Formats: sequence, structure tokens, C-alpha cells
Amino acid sequence: MLEKVVIANRGEIALRILRACKELGIKTVAAHSISDRDLIHVRLADESVCIGPDMVSESYLNIPAVISAAEVSDAVAIHPGYGFLAENANFAEQVEKSGFIFIGPNADTIRLMGDKVSAIDAMQAAGVPCVPGSGGPLGEDPQENLAIARNIGYPVIIKAAGGGGRGMRVVHSEAALTNAVAMTKAEASASFNNSTVYMEKFLENPRHIEIQVLADGQGNAIHLAERDCSLQRRHQKVVEEAPAPGITVEQRQKIGKRCVDACIKMNYRGAGTFEFLYENGEFYFIEMNTRIQVEHPITEMITGVDLVKEQLRIAAGEKLRYQQSDIKITGHAIECRINAEDPYNFTPSPGKISIFHAPGGPGVRVDSHVYSSYTVPPHYDSLIGKLIAHGEDRATAIARMRNALDEIIVEGIKTNIQLHQDIMRDGNFIQGGVNIHYLEEKLNL
Ligand code: ADP
Repeated sequence: MLEKVVIANRGEIALRILRACKELGIKTVAAHSISDRDLIHVRLADESVCIGPDMVSESYLNIPAVISAAEVSDAVAIHPGYGFLAENANFAEQVEKSGFIFIGPNADTIRLMGDKVSAIDAMQAAGVPCVPGSGGPLGEDPQENLAIARNIGYPVIIKAAGGGGRGMRVVHSEAALTNAVAMTKAEASASFNNSTVYMEKFLENPRHIEIQVLADGQGNAIHLAERDCSLQRRHQKVVEEAPAPGITVEQRQKIGKRCVDACIKMNYRGAGTFEFLYENGEFYFIEMNTRIQVEHPITEMITGVDLVKEQLRIAAGEKLRYQQSDIKITGHAIECRINAEDPYNFTPSPGKISIFHAPGGPGVRVDSHVYSSYTVPPHYDSLIGKLIAHGEDRATAIARMRNALDEIIVEGIKTNIQLHQDIMRDGNFIQGGVNIHYLEEKLNL
């Protein structure tokens, strides 16, 4: 097993990684910014290294500083968590070049999946269903692009290969296409220094359903069923659940197998997620995340597999301990992301939490780094914790989540707890299977 691991992240995921390391007897090094010295995982880690000031560019995104944390502490591996450097291929490469293990896939895989066009190419080659589209970057010839769009059928969406959701444009008619391509290119060039754009059919009312995978890079891979993350605001997930309402065992096995085959084909290593849009009974691949995800606990609750511990075992060179037939789904799990934000205008609400009380009871899990008198700094994202409720069926999970939301106390800052209360009592959510526009439509009412 790995002897000592640098946790190159903060907040709830840093604590989550620390817990997994401790269970496995791995020593930990918390690499943290100045104001994060009061985080629980920093206090509990065997060692801590301050990697810079609060600004992320000078600490959590500072590649030399993170790697030096491993050097000075004699660690053998670095866990990037999610966000920050987790999907930065150059970082992964430099970590390995410096003689450390990057806990995740190799740099080439991250690079392949980081470019949407090459990712879609790889998926198509592996037999993963994709959104009908241009099948490659759009060229300069407007006539050609118009022909591609005509072939796909309107509406279409123009997207940047460099990704990041920004700058996507939906086009409803021929007249608007040429200009939309030019504008998306200009924006992509400015935001990602990569003007490559591509075209896809715009799906009008899809759900977001994603498949969790684990692979050891030694020819073994499994899937751990799906999560439904359709409740989003501005493409940010708010509530997730597993399994996805209405997905049959046959559908799960079929799409899961495609993802597993793709992992084996690209010799994938570590935990990963295939994200799909799901409409009219069909899955359409949109992107792969080559890291642990925020919503991983709901999969852990229904499968009993500790995904972070498996990441560590795989990084240590162990073979996957599970076969597909070992993975059984038990009950239903829901996650509510608790954010420090204004419930009406959604602006971040950092500041001191005067009182924090965590809920409990059967099937309730709280993944959070905050405590009474903790100050939420303004420099980072607003996630202060995740409430996860598991039950023998979906109705039980919802009932437990309602209880948990009634019990949790966060005083001193504004949070979105009330929004979650409303969602857990919403008729359409309770029925299950709402699409990705539902939450925004509900909020506008
Ligand atoms: P990002 O890297 O920002 O996550 P994605 O390619 O995953 O970019 O797209 C972000 C979101 O944009 C999706 O979750 C979905 O809501 C919307 N989207 C992307 N592609 C399509 C499409 N072909 N049709 C409809 N909506 C789409």
C-alpha cells in the first residue's frame, strides 16, 4: 500500500480522502493555503504543508508548490480530489516525472478526455453512444457547416472542444449558424486558447445520467451503476440520486458494459465517470470526468464500495478487487449539496458559521468539513457540505433526507437548505425523472 499521500485539495473532499487514507493505514500530508490551516483535515493529517496564499493560482493551482509538498514530506503519491488540478494533464505528467504517483489516470488519458473532440472520437471508436454531431472540429467553410447542420437537423449546439460549458450556443435555424460558429470560436479562443469548436444535435429535454466506473489499468474494469444529476442550476448540480428513476436493469447493464469496454480499450486507470444526456430512452455521451466526483457518495451508499479507498488501492498498483457480478445495488440514495449562498440570488455567502449541527439517524451521511465557529473563506467554491440519505427505496431516502434537512443547523451564513426542503416536497421530483431544465423552471415560478 502507499506509505504517505499528499492531499492536494481542501474542504469536504480533503477530509473524505483523509478518512480513506487513515482507514488504509496511509500517512497523510495536507497541502493547504494559509487561511485553510484551520480545516479539520489539516489538523488531523500526520503532516501539513502550507503551499501558498489563499488565492488558488498561488496555492491549490500552483503546480511546483504542490509537488514540493510531496518532496519535503517524502510522500509517494498525490491525491488531487476534484476541481483544481484534478484534470490537469500537465500536472499529472509533472507529478509522475518528479517520481510521485498521481492518483488518477495517466496524463495521456486525461489529455484525451480533456479535449471534447478527441474524447468523442475515442468513445465512438469504443462503441459508446454519442450525440449525433459533426464528428470532428468545424472547418472554416460556412457551406460545409451548413450542410453538417442540415444533416443533423436543427436545433444544433456549437461547443468548444476545450470544454467548460461556457460559450456553448444553441442554433435554431440556418440563418443564425455561420455567425454562431464564428462567435463560439472567438470566445473559445479567448477562454481556452483553443478555437476548436464542434457541432452536436441539441437535445431539448434530456436528463443528465452518468455511469461510475473503476478500472485498474491492468485490464480490469467495472461499472457501479448510474447517478441521475438532472437537478441543476446554471449547469451546476444541486441534487443527485442513485439509481436513476425509471432506468431498467437491462438499460443499466447495456450502457454500463459499453463504458467498461471503453475503459478496457483505453487502458483506463482509477475512478471515472461517463456523463450522458438521456432522452427518449437513449443515452448520448457528452463527456468523461477522469477523477472522483462530488456526488460519489450516493454510489457508495447503494453499492457498499468505498470509491476513494479503491482509488488509493489502484494507485498502489493493486488489481481491482471486484468483478462486475460483485456489484449489487441496495436501495436508493440522494445527495443534497449544501452551499453557502443567498437562497434568492444565489450569490456566495462566505463568513463565520456561528452554529453548526449535523443531522443523523439511520441512513444519513454527512460529508462536511465545517464546524461551529468555522469561517467560510471567500476564495473558494461555496460547497460547505453534502447531505446524503440512503433508504431501502426512494421514498424512504426522500423521507430521511427531509428529516436530515429539518435537523441540520447552519447559523451565521446564508445557505440553500430551504431550496432542498422545497425540492424534497416537490410533486414532480417525488414522482421522479425530471429533466435538466426542471429546477430552473421551478425557480422562475
Ligand atoms: P462541461 O464541460 O461544461 O460540463 P458539457 O459538454 O458537459 O460541458 O455540457 C454542459 C451542459 O450543457 C450539459 O450538462 C447539458 O446541460 C448542456 N448540453 C451539452 N451538450 C448538449 C446537447 N447536445 N444538447 C443539449 N444540451 C447539451
